[in-house]
Amino acid sequence: MKLDTSRALFEEALQVMPGGVSSPVRAAKPFPFYTKSAKGCRLTDADGNGYIDFCMGYGPLILGHQPAPVKDAIGKQLDEGWLYGTPCELEVRYARKIRNYYPGMQMMRFVSTGGEATMSAIRAARGYTGRDKVVKIEGGFHGAHDGVLVKAGSGAATMGVPDSLGVPKDFTKHTLQVPFNDIRAMEAALESNKDQVACVIMEPVMCNMGPILPKEGYLRAVRNLTKEHGVVLIFDEVVTGFRVGMFGAQGYFGVEPDMTTLGKIAGGGLPIGIFGGKKEIMEKVAPQGGVYQAGTFNGNPLSLTAGMATVDYLDKQRAHIKLNESGEALRQALTELLKRMKLDYSVSGMASMFQVFFGPKPENYQQALRCNKALYDKFWSHMLENGVFLPPSQFETCFLSTAHERGDVEDTLRAFIKSCGAL
Ligand code: PMP
Repeated sequence: MKLDTSRALFEEALQVMPGGVSSPVRAAKPFPFYTKSAKGCRLTDADGNGYIDFCMGYGPLILGHQPAPVKDAIGKQLDEGWLYGTPCELEVRYARKIRNYYPGMQMMRFVSTGGEATMSAIRAARGYTGRDKVVKIEGGFHGAHDGVLVKAGSGAATMGVPDSLGVPKDFTKHTLQVPFNDIRAMEAALESNKDQVACVIMEPVMCNMGPILPKEGYLRAVRNLTKEHGVVLIFDEVVTGFRVGMFGAQGYFGVEPDMTTLGKIAGGGLPIGIFGGKKEIMEKVAPQGGVYQAGTFNGNPLSLTAGMATVDYLDKQRAHIKLNESGEALRQALTELLKRMKLDYSVSGMASMFQVFFGPKPENYQQALRCNKALYDKFWSHMLENGVFLPPSQFETCFLSTAHERGDVEDTLRAFIKSCGAL
């Protein structure tokens, strides 16, 4: 595979960008390929190589690259302008639409990234309760802001620096950690910090350690416990919102949090974050209340348009039915292949999300960290050589889109057999 242009671009990038990349997890070894264009489920790099994409922009692209309904909607919106600095009808329409799917988001605010949404949700929960402490789940990733960069998943786990330099201890001393799927630990944390915890923030399905599913009854138990303690429960559905189904993980598992954060798919591939929840909490947000939040790009018309077109398409086409079936079939096929090859790796996931763990299927962060990362890295390189692009980390989730067709999945399974065989 010829990669001369990508190699040269990376060398140039190293001079002007830390690590040569715009975000850490993109720093594939020995150098990343540089994408020139993307269409459907395929990426084409600067040297003309093609790849089947399972990264899908880290989740937003549930309809693939450049889906026609989204592209058309963006095109029309471009003719109306792309930044107003005033309110516009779109945001009212989209907020009402979102509330239909996430009724717990009685009021909401549109921001620009998922990280901003979780940062603002935590601030609102603190403002509302007058408490400082935050409980997060070990390995949970909620964006790259100070208070949550403790035992964080995604790139932070891959790099082996769960705590970032430059974050004063004072900023994280209010952040408590508990393991996922361990209700006793959650109970102990809330008991021993009585009347001090503002919120529990969690991904209902952990997606930044690879996908890790909640055990039966766990989310319900967290809901009951937080209610008992007067603690705001925030479900970070930046990945799972509109991914697991139209109603997110909260709809799938039938557990309603006090606040929800959305992003990724909700922006149809353009930058977005949304935080919302109970009226009495959201009424605390400025200008109605004293919790400050503001942004030049909040409620960006292009992002709202792309998000709305994506959501409408998913709903009208009932796209999740087929997509989630394809996900289930793919996970089964991978599991079957591993069994046939007598490899004791495991396949995890739900809906259209999956990951191959090089070790037993984990239930929490500590177990995920025991997987063989070095082997995953080798596997990743072989998959790439065989034309399949996976996220370059054991601790990320692979995403199927509606643009992946049967032939693409068959090509992927062939690449998988070759890559596992080569390990
Ligand atoms: N929450 C979760 C669950 C995420 O996976 C991510 C990013 N992958 C974020 C928040 C942060 O979103 P963004 O990158 O848009 O800031």
